[in-house]
Amino acid sequence: MTAATYDLMDFDEVLEKYDPVMGLEVHVELSTGTKMFSSSSAAFGDEPNSNVDPVSLGLPGALPVVNEKGVEYAIKIGLALNCSIAESSRFARKNYFYPDQPKNYQISQYDEPIAYDGYLDVVLGDGTEWRVEIERAHMEEDTGKLTHLGGASGRIHGATASLVDCNRAGVPLIEIVTKPIEGAGERAPEVAKAYVGALRELVAALGVSDARMDQGSMRCDANLSLRPVGEKEFGTRTETKNINSLRSVEQAIRFEMQRQAAVLSEGGEIVQETRHYQEADGSTSKGRPKETAEDYRYFNDPDLPPVHAPAEWVEQIRETLPEMPWLRRARIQKEWGIGDKEMRDLVNAGALDLIIETTEHGASADEARSWWVSYLAGKANEQEVDLADLEITPAQVARVIELVRDGKLTTKMGRQAVDGVLAGEGDVDKVVADRGLEVVRDDGAIEAAVDEALAANPDIVEKYRAGNKKVTGAIVGAVMKATKGKADPKQVNQLIAKKLN
Ligand code: ADP
Ligand code: MG
Repeated sequence: MTAATYDLMDFDEVLEKYDPVMGLEVHVELSTGTKMFSSSSAAFGDEPNSNVDPVSLGLPGALPVVNEKGVEYAIKIGLALNCSIAESSRFARKNYFYPDQPKNYQISQYDEPIAYDGYLDVVLGDGTEWRVEIERAHMEEDTGKLTHLGGASGRIHGATASLVDCNRAGVPLIEIVTKPIEGAGERAPEVAKAYVGALRELVAALGVSDARMDQGSMRCDANLSLRPVGEKEFGTRTETKNINSLRSVEQAIRFEMQRQAAVLSEGGEIVQETRHYQEADGSTSKGRPKETAEDYRYFNDPDLPPVHAPAEWVEQIRETLPEMPWLRRARIQKEWGIGDKEMRDLVNAGALDLIIETTEHGASADEARSWWVSYLAGKANEQEVDLADLEITPAQVARVIELVRDGKLTTKMGRQAVDGVLAGEGDVDKVVADRGLEVVRDDGAIEAAVDEALAANPDIVEKYRAGNKKVTGAIVGAVMKATKGKADPKQVNQLIAKKLN
C-alpha cells in the first residue's frame, strides 16, 4: 500500500485517539439443490440463464413456494449460533430496482427473522476467546449476477455493456448480522477475521453451504465506525461490501480504521456509505450513499404465508447437528498429540481441514502438517491467497508425500512437483514425468560421481580421516550437482561413508 495515494493515520495512533466499532453482515448461500422459492437448480457455474423459471425471472403471475430444506438449514445455522428460533417468522419484500433482480424486490425477512439473539465464541491468535453477539440470522434470496464489459476491472463505471445471468437469482441465502462489536481496539481486524473464519468453518461443518468465499457462496459486508476514546455514542459507519476472503476482511477493517481516523482528525466527517474493497492494494473506495430501511419500503410479502417452525421440529433438527468444529478440533489435537499453540497456528493458517483431507488420502498427520504449514503456507504467502485457494488439492499433496516417502523423489524434488502443480502443469505424476523428476537409483552412476568428487577434494578426505566426520557436505553437494540433483542424499552419504572407512 502506498501512503502517498491514501491519507491514512498510523494504526497505533488511531488506537490512541479512537475506539473502533464493527458490525459484520455475512451472507451464506445454502446448498439446498433448488432455489428458495422455485424448483430450478441452485448450482454454481452452469451455463448462464440455464437455471431459471418464471419465479426466479419475476414473470407476472408466478408464485413463490418456500423451500422447506432452506428453512431447515436456516434453523440449523440459528441453533449452531445459539439463537432463539422463532416459531413463526415472515418474509418481506425489500423493494429496489437493480437489473440483476427482475422482480424489483428481493424477498427477505425484516422485523420477524427466523433466528435472533445468539452468539459465537471465536478464538483469537493468542488463544483468548472473544464472544461475538449475533443480532439475527434471516432467510432471503440471492440476486442474479451482472458482468460488466469494456470498463476497467469489471466495474460498471466505464463499461460499454452489461450481461445479466439469472442463475443465482433466487438461490437461498442466510444473512447473519452481528450486534455492534465494541471494545476490540487493536484487535478489531483480527476479531473480524476470526469471526468470519469461525462462521465459515461452522456452516461447512453443518453441511448447509460450501462456504466458498472465492466463489461468492459466502460474502461479508464489514461495517466500521470510530468514536473518540472514552465516548459512548457510536460514530457514523461505512459498510464495505462483498469482501471475499478472510485476509481481505481483516485488511478492510484495518484500512477503514486508518482512513476514517485520518478524516476525523482533520475535522472531516464520515459519510454513511457503502464502499468497495480493492484487492489490488487493500484499500476501500467510495460506493453509493447508504439507503436507510425506510427507503426499501419493506412490507410483508402477500404471496407467502408465515413460516412455522414448531418446537418439536426445531428439537428434531437440533438432534442432527454434527460435532461442532471447536469440539472436533479438540479431539483432533489430542489424536495428533500436538500443543495448543501449534493447533491454533494450523487453524489460523486455514490448514486444519486441508491436513485432515491429506491424511484421508493416505499421508501421515506429521507429514501432511509439515507440507501444509511450511512449504505450502510459504507459497500461499507469496501469492497472497488463502491456503485453501492454492491451486493444489489435498489428494495431490498426499501423492507428493507418498512419492517422497517411497524414496522416488527427494524432498527437494517433491517441492518441485508441488511447484509444477501450482503452475498449472497438471497432476503430480504428470509434472514428475514432464520435469524428469526422479531419484537416480543407478549405483554405478552415483558411485562414479562420488569417486570423482572424492578425488577432486583431497583436503576434505584428509580432514575426514583425521576424525572430522562433518566435512562431507561439500562432497554430497558436488555429487548432487554432478547428478543434476537426482541422487538420493541419503544414499550418497552411505556411499561416502563406505568409501572412506
Ligand atoms: P444495513 O441494512 O444498513 O446493512 P444492518 O442492521 O443489516 O444494517 O447491519 C448493520 C450492521 O452494522 C450490524 O451488524 C450492526 O450491529 C452494525 N452497526 C450498526 N451501527 C453501527 C455503527 N455506528 N458502527 C459500526 N457498526 C454498526
Ligand atoms: Mg444489512
